[in-house]
This record gives sequence, structure tokens and C-alpha cells, in this order.
Amino acid sequence: MDYLPLFLQVRNQNCLVVGGGDIALRKIRLLKASGAIVRVVAREICKDIRVFLADGDDQLLNKSFDEQDLDDVCLVIAATDDSVVNQQVALSAQRRHLFVNVVDDADAGNAVMPAIVDRSPVVVAFSTGGKAPVLARLLRQKLETLLPQGYGRLAALAGECRDMVKAKFSHINDRRYFWEKVLVGPAAEKALTGDLKGARKLIDQTLQSSSAQKIGEVYLVGGGPGDPDLLTFKALRLMQQSDVVLHDRLVSEDVLALCRRDADYIYVGKKRDRHARPQEEINALLVQLAKEGKRVLRLKGGDPFIFGRGGEEIETLASEGVPFQVVPGITAASGCASYAGIPLTHRDHAQSVRFVTGHLKDGSYALNWNEMLDPGQTLVFYMGLLGLPRICQELIDHGRDAQTPIALIQQGTTRNQKVFTGTLATINKIIEPEKVKAPTLIIVGSVVTLHEILNWYNNDKLLKQ
Ligand code: SAH
Repeated sequence: MDYLPLFLQVRNQNCLVVGGGDIALRKIRLLKASGAIVRVVAREICKDIRVFLADGDDQLLNKSFDEQDLDDVCLVIAATDDSVVNQQVALSAQRRHLFVNVVDDADAGNAVMPAIVDRSPVVVAFSTGGKAPVLARLLRQKLETLLPQGYGRLAALAGECRDMVKAKFSHINDRRYFWEKVLVGPAAEKALTGDLKGARKLIDQTLQSSSAQKIGEVYLVGGGPGDPDLLTFKALRLMQQSDVVLHDRLVSEDVLALCRRDADYIYVGKKRDRHARPQEEINALLVQLAKEGKRVLRLKGGDPFIFGRGGEEIETLASEGVPFQVVPGITAASGCASYAGIPLTHRDHAQSVRFVTGHLKDGSYALNWNEMLDPGQTLVFYMGLLGLPRICQELIDHGRDAQTPIALIQQGTTRNQKVFTGTLATINKIIEPEKVKAPTLIIVGSVVTLHEILNWYNNDKLLKQ
């Protein structure tokens, strides 16, 4: 390592910043966030710095740098736009054995400012030793997405309970085991979602009755329509910490591959499959696994609350007192519409949108077709492939224009996405010779005409233009 990583306590300590522009301001903000008293020395000090430091013990000195500015300081930052001045500051500081950072010139000083991800009291800091600041920034972006915003809350809570846990477990191994369990369990999840009271209660309970019946948790998670990049951060986090995964056919392979590798996987199929489990059995299985103390991931395609029977599953959990969380996913309508370049609403085309099930219950539709005739309303049919001829006919018979545009999107958002377009009168003929594969989504309405110009996904034509 070229540098020793270290976190400095600068609260109520004097820190010197030489320079009065934007870059100096950025460093001043960091110093103030850490509680330092700042001395700014510059011939010109910008208004933003003046405003930012308006009330406090900080010093603003309108002058050139000289040796005395280093008196009583513990840290120096040279942030002028004059490299000669910066070097002079660095030399003087190092002669006094002070740590000094020179902005944009790591070698001139003896300290570098790391890129940071701040979830105080958890702070991740990293540096490329001044060699590639952009790389450090890119890494930072990655870490920002990996660490949930609530991490700080979780750490603070753990800090609060530390003495209590120490009193309960005298051996360090027992404490470590306790914390490992708590920090990835329901208490941690509660803290991350902001329910600190609930989290504290769970920790207290766990402490009081380490031998009592353990209860796990169920995560009802929307896995989106197929493209794994469409998962939410929260979905990914829960997918990677679950002990058991219950998934069905709609969840894409790419999404499933992101779950914890050593979890147990249970395929629960889908209604029409031969190996499908009845819904009641799935509900009961969720309860049983959670009561064994497991963290159970119920992974659903799209969004669990849109034609996903997610409501039924958590009703059972609620009545059995099993804790659960619901994580929304991108529903097929949003995913397919975006990836097919068909906005579901548009000022010139549609003022409302309706999600409809195209699945025939007992072979018949209990749909109110008369509510679907407004030309300014986009219709999205889920589970509509088998019933497509009937859907088109009903719409026409009830009075929707036979020339209304319609799109059928196969395996939307995946590499196999295909979009077929036509009208209510022609679409069935158009897809007849095609081997259309499930799942498919149907969009009806004049917004479909926009596909012609807005189609961007897998579209080579766009590159050639
Ligand atoms: N909860 C899911 C919907 C479940 S119903 C969601 O919010 O998306 C199953 C239907 O969803 C399928 O019959 C199909 O109409 C639609 N669907 C799901 N994923 C799809 C995809 N990638 N492409 C096209 N349609 C999809």
C-alpha cells in the first residue's frame, strides 16, 4: 500500500484550507460535516464559502498564505488554483510534520482524500492513491447502490445494544454469533426500513429468549419482467440473503441466477403447469418455512400485487403472525411498454390506461367490455394470448373501432423480445404463422402507432441512421 488508510477525529480541531473557490468549498463542507473548525486563507473568498461559514467559530482570512496560518492546526488542505502556492503550503506543512492534502496533486502532499460512501456511522472510504480519481468515483457509484440507505440506522442501533449484548454473552464467539444472526435477520430489516422501535423490540426479544421459538420472515419480491437490470436494490439485497427461494415459471433465469447460491430452491410452478402446486399449498409452505426460522424469498414475476396473487399469500402470513415484507417490481405492462417503445399514456393518444386479465375463468369472461371502448384509453391485457381472438371480437362487437392498433409483445425486456403489431381486425392473421412464445402482453390503443418511431430496444436501424 502506498498510503495508510485512517479515519481522523477532527471534531473541534482547527483545520486549515488554503483557497477560496469551489474546490475549497467542497473540502470545507467535508470538514464541517466531521465537526472541524475551519480556517480559510485566500486572497479571494467566494460568496458561497462566506454564506456556508457565516455563523460559527470558523475563520475567514482574506490574505495570502504565510507560515503562521499553520499554527494550532491538525490538518491542511491546499486547494488554490495556483500549483506553486499549493506546493509552498505543502512544504511548509510537512516541515511542521502536519498532514497536508494537495487537491489534484497527490504527490505534492502526504495525505489523499478518499472517495466516500456515507452511511454514518458507517463510512466507506477508498482511494486510488490519486492515480485515477474517476475510477474511484465509478467505484463509489457501485458501492452507493450496494449499501442500503438505512445502514447507518442499523449501525447506530447495534451500537445502542452493544453493552446489553456484552452483558448477556460473556464469550466473544457467542456475541459474534448473535450479531451475525441479528444483522441479517428480521430486526435488521426493520431497522433498514426505518422502524427502529420494532427492530429494538425484536433484538430485546431475541436476547431475552435465545432458546425461544425462532421465527423467520417472508419476502414477497417482484422480480420484474425478465431483464435483471430492472430489479430494485431492495429486491437484490433480499434475494441475496434468503435461505429458501420459492419461484415460479415467470421468473427469468437471469433473475434467478442473482439469488443466493447456497439457498434451497423450490419450484412452485404456475397454474397451468402439470407440476404446479395449488395456491393453498404454497401459502402453507411459506408459513411452515418461516416458522422453522428461515428467511424465505417468494420471488414473483413482475409486480407481486398485479395479477400475482401476492395478496392471498400474505393474507395467510398475516393471519399466522409471520413477519413479511413486500417489494414491488416492474410489472409486465411497464417493462414491455418501455422496451417496445409504446408509452401507455400520451397527450395526443391516451389519457388513461387499464390493466385487464385476459385469462378466461371457467371458459368465460366476466369483463365489462363497455368500459373499454373509449379511444383515449389504452388497454393492457395480461394472460391474453389464448383468448386473443375472443378479446378482439368482443371489443369490436361492443363498438371499439376495428382499426384500433394493437401490439403483442412476446417475452418483453428479454433478449428474445418480439413485437407484433396490427389492428383489432388483423392481428390474429398476422401472428398465425409465427410461433409466438409465452409470456406475452397485449396493448390496445392508438399509442401502439408510436412503436414505429420509438422502438429502441434491439433496434439495429437506430444505429445505422
Ligand atoms: N405479476 C406479473 C403478472 C403475472 S400474470 C406482473 O406484474 O407482470 C402473467 C402474465 O404477465 C403473462 O401471461 C403475461 O401476460 C404477462 N407477462 C409477464 N412477464 C412478461 C414478459 N416478460 N413479457 C410479456 N408478458 C409478460
